Amino acid sequence: MSADFLWKVSEGDSVKLKKYDPDYVHPSFKHDNADETLAALGTELGELQELLAAAQHHSVLMILQGMDTSGKDGTIRHVFSHVNPQSCRVNSFKVPTAEEAAHDFLWRIHNVTPPKGVLGIFNRSQYEDVLVVRVHNLVPESVWSHRYKAINHFEKLLADNGTIILKFFLHISQDEQTARLQARVDDKDKAWKISSSDFAERKYWDDYQKAYEDALSQCSTDEAPWYIVPANHKWYRNLVIAKTLVETMRKYKDEWKSDLEARGRKELESLQQILAGNEAKSS
Ligand code: AMP
Ligand code: MG
Repeated sequence: MSADFLWKVSEGDSVKLKKYDPDYVHPSFKHDNADETLAALGTELGELQELLAAAQHHSVLMILQGMDTSGKDGTIRHVFSHVNPQSCRVNSFKVPTAEEAAHDFLWRIHNVTPPKGVLGIFNRSQYEDVLVVRVHNLVPESVWSHRYKAINHFEKLLADNGTIILKFFLHISQDEQTARLQARVDDKDKAWKISSSDFAERKYWDDYQKAYEDALSQCSTDEAPWYIVPANHKWYRNLVIAKTLVETMRKYKDEWKSDLEARGRKELESLQQILAGNEAKSS
């Protein structure tokens, strides 16, 4: 497990969530200038995404998972405010429809994975099929226990096809969840966010933590790593996710740029040939 601003799970790690502090803040990030730092990261993310879209070599898939109120929606709202919506896609996965449920569990997921040039964001994902499904015994263990392997194969297939995959687990404490649910009850403007099922799910907290530990331990690979995000502080959560995304995409920047320059030169050459041909005709 490598530790830094957040925790990247290495292949073969056995994750115990109690060891990770949801309140953690790296000393180099300050709450005072968090907005400016996020804006700078957001601008760079926008530039990288433009190159991604133009180069058409890779796609990016960012998966967000976490307990209710952990901030999946808030992360999307804040981290992507500088990104061109044209080459960005968000998919939220809910209880499967009858049609989705009639297929294998990856069918609805594969149907919407980002094509080349697109940055795709999954709000929940294929992991629900080893989380909520496991906690509520929606299928027997003999079925869900095989899904970790299926997910790893599926993600490898995507990675081999040029998908850059990042998976973020938004790690909050149970106390923080209590406070956030209470805030929704107290604040009339936020009442629309109240979901009575979120309150019912609370009693399964330990089961969910255990299910998350298994998903994080069994499905973190070099090509599709899991990151545990300290997420009690919303400003910190946004910053470290933006930073990780930017640093990952930055590694491809030179490749994307040189491809685009080569393409530009080629276009210029054919333009010159066309112009030369036109001149020859008119003379
Ligand atoms: P929300 O993200 O708050 O809109 O809620 C979506 C709900 O759909 C959550 O309660 C998820 O647990 C549930 N959900 C998502 N995927 C699945 C799935 N594959 N099977 C059962 N429930 C799911
Ligand atoms: Mg919810």
